[in-house]
Amino acid sequence: MLPPFELLEPHSLDQALKMLATSESVPLAGGTNLLPDLRARGEAGGRFISLAALDQLHGIEHSDSRVLMGARTTLSDILHDPLMPTAAPSLVSMAKVFAGSMVRNAATVAGNICYGSPSADVVPPLLSLDAELTLASAAGERTLSLNDFLLDYKKTARRPDELLISVSWAPPTTGTANLFYKLGRRRGDAITVVGVAVTITIEKGNCTKARIALGSVAPTVFRAQEAEEALVGGPLTATTIGTAAQAAAQASRPIDDIRASADYRRHAVHMLVRRLLTEAWQTAGSQHD
Ligand SMILES: Cc1cc2nc3c(=O)[nH]c(=O)nc-3n(C[C@H](O)[C@H](O)[C@H](O)COP(=O)(O)OP(=O)(O)OC[C@H]3O[C@@H](n4cnc5c(N)ncnc54)[C@H](O)[C@@H]3O)c2cc1C
Repeated sequence: MLPPFELLEPHSLDQALKMLATSESVPLAGGTNLLPDLRARGEAGGRFISLAALDQLHGIEHSDSRVLMGARTTLSDILHDPLMPTAAPSLVSMAKVFAGSMVRNAATVAGNICYGSPSADVVPPLLSLDAELTLASAAGERTLSLNDFLLDYKKTARRPDELLISVSWAPPTTGTANLFYKLGRRRGDAITVVGVAVTITIEKGNCTKARIALGSVAPTVFRAQEAEEALVGGPLTATTIGTAAQAAAQASRPIDDIRASADYRRHAVHMLVRRLLTEAWQTAGSQHD
């Protein structure tokens, strides 16, 4: 049984932001992190602000230059959006292996990002797409990169009076491959052992942009920037891919836990980064044929 808690139910974003500014309260979206946590604590919960009626935070808009995703967009919404496979292929691959369908129907993008877990599956794809977040408070809005938002284990740059209202990114251009792979202990409903997202852009046979984002192998999801730098400026060969995979494994700071040892995770990063970069090079290169 859930312990008792107070629920505020604003009907507009303004009302929600005022409540957040004036009461000690926590935003409640799908509740798939918050409610299990409340149950596990077993003591009377605090005050939650339901985002359920804030329809303006829900949905995905596409333009040629930008994809704008509302904070309350669910994992199922990602799977049902017909333009998403080209606007964010890695995000679609991720949504397919995220929990089961009941959780996917409730779990939101904002909840996944704001919880700040190192195993948050939404985050590596969005980091690999250079996503930006817009946060709102009663004092106004600010936009920052997802990379700058993630500070440490379950620690983000969100202030207590702020709501994440949207996530945006530029859709991949021709010659860009964007891939994700989740390694778990089983195919469905498993916490990620290692999550890898890569984005590679190829122009005239050379790699002009590389992003490698890793989940579950450090206190927070992060970009392996040295590995990215090893790839830019030339074609991706077995040697450059191997160097980048090695650098990504070295940048990881995994822990031993019930799901896998740190050594296994580091090894998996090496193998998966190599595999995804090889596939990305072939996919991006073939778009110019
Ligand atoms: C059975 C099960 C399976 C799961 N499988 C996976 C999985 O495969 N991969 C994975 O990554 N996660 C998984 N999860 C975890 C969870 O479903 C996700 O993290 C989900 O995206 C959280 O979203 P939510 O809307 O339910 O967030 P909530 O639980 O409502 O909130 C989570 C946190 O985000 C904050 N928050 C929510 N919305 C906002 C906002 N707009 N602005 C500011 N703060 C906000 C809340 O205050 C809270 O701190 C699973 C959970 C369960 C119970």
